[in-house]
Amino acid sequence: MALKQPESVDECVYFTRRALLPTKGRIVAWAFRKRCPKCRKGVMAKPKKSSPTYDCPSCGYAEPKAEHIADIKLNVEYTCPACGFSGEAQTEFKRKSWQGVKAYVFSCGKCGEKIGVTKKLKEPKRKGADVPEEDDDDE
Ligand SMILES: [Zn+2]
Ligand SMILES: [Zn+2]
Repeated sequence: MALKQPESVDECVYFTRRALLPTKGRIVAWAFRKRCPKCRKGVMAKPKKSSPTYDCPSCGYAEPKAEHIADIKLNVEYTCPACGFSGEAQTEFKRKSWQGVKAYVFSCGKCGEKIGVTKKLKEPKRKGADVPEEDDDDE
């Protein structure tokens, strides 16, 4: 499996890079923005952070968040914190309960360890360094 890499974070609705300390585990996870299912031209985005829909800038189609997210896959490149195996995985772009917190969950292709991509701890907002970390308004 060779996952398509984003050329820029602008292509992503979600992008994160994590070190799974104190192990040598690490994760890079990203999800591509979705093309409009109606006109196939526009790349859907939230008009505002609090918006319940993702809108097409080209034809104006507004898709409810749940429907929108159902079609998106989370791509992951990882080094397993349990066995040290490096691999790639794809999982649903939907958080599940994992070790008592909400996380995108995938399994190590070698040892089967369930690995979670949790929400990042809140960091102070820096202007201009706007990586599209997913909003916090979910479920
Ligand atoms: Zn459209
Ligand atoms: Zn493993």
